[in-house]
Amino acid sequence: MANIIDGKAISATIRAEIKEETERFYEKNGIRPGLAVIIVGEDPASQVYVRNKRRACEEVGFYSEAYELPADTTQEELNSLVDKLNADDAIHGILCQLPLPKHLDENEVILRIDPKKDVDAFHPTNVGRIMIGDYSFLPCTPAGVMALLERSGIEISGKECVVVGRSNIVGKPQAMLLLHAHGTVTVCHSRTKNLAEVCRRADILVAAIGKADFFTADMVKEGAVVIDVGMNRRADGKLTGDVDFESVAPKASYITPVPGGVGPMTITMLMQNTLTAAKESVN
Ligand code: NDP
Repeated sequence: MANIIDGKAISATIRAEIKEETERFYEKNGIRPGLAVIIVGEDPASQVYVRNKRRACEEVGFYSEAYELPADTTQEELNSLVDKLNADDAIHGILCQLPLPKHLDENEVILRIDPKKDVDAFHPTNVGRIMIGDYSFLPCTPAGVMALLERSGIEISGKECVVVGRSNIVGKPQAMLLLHAHGTVTVCHSRTKNLAEVCRRADILVAAIGKADFFTADMVKEGAVVIDVGMNRRADGKLTGDVDFESVAPKASYITPVPGGVGPMTITMLMQNTLTAAKESVN
């Protein structure tokens, strides 16, 4: 049976470290890292995320602001809020909860957020900096995966890493981070031929496609490290990953559960990015 990578425990350790560092930063500079979260409309899942982010800020000693805007907010209103937050010295990180209602242009918002405050690392400036390996912020979910690997003592250098999924927020940056860590990286997607065969080559398999229990034991090499980024709701309302945990766990050397694996790390990495942004604001 695989070692279970406990994302909740690792996340709690990192948050405690962030809290300590925040206090040191505050003592030295008299500044609390500040995060502003914008949410437009009443998507219940987004509201839960926003609440969790606010709680995480309190836990690590950050200042936070939440802007809950009505669903009929115009692009101009949203843009002017971003402009105001860009100019606000108490705010070091700005996060606009996606998806936005259809009439709003997500890309316009991503481009408008000051790259220095772009704690989601979605702005092309930050994406480009990740590509060349000279970055301040990493996108939260792939950064969370890297922290899980690192803190579990899993060596990446020279390993066959297979990332399944090529989205801008998970798959692509994940592949780049594994490459920076000297993995030999293959990226798969919906047009990949012989997916099971490619996955079986992986020493480290990262599943990020959004399909419940898709990755079964026959797709995994004996002793592989399996990281499940997927978050899917079953018909009975239960959260499940992209990996069929029951069949894969006995074959893997390490595996992340869902819930309690990658999920808790995402907000923790957001806290890390906000602290970094605050530190860079005084440099
Ligand atoms: P997207 O829908 O943006 O991307 C899915 C990717 O998976 C695409 O690249 C797609 O390929 C690929 N894909 C879909 N079906 C298959 C298939 N049958 N075989 C191979 N590849 C396939 O999703 P995200 O990247 O945003 O999210 C992925 C999962 O991670 C979701 O379950 C999401 O909920 C979860 N997630 C979890 C987070 C966390 O905090 N734990 C944070 C963010 C996401 P193609 O490009 O060809 O269409």
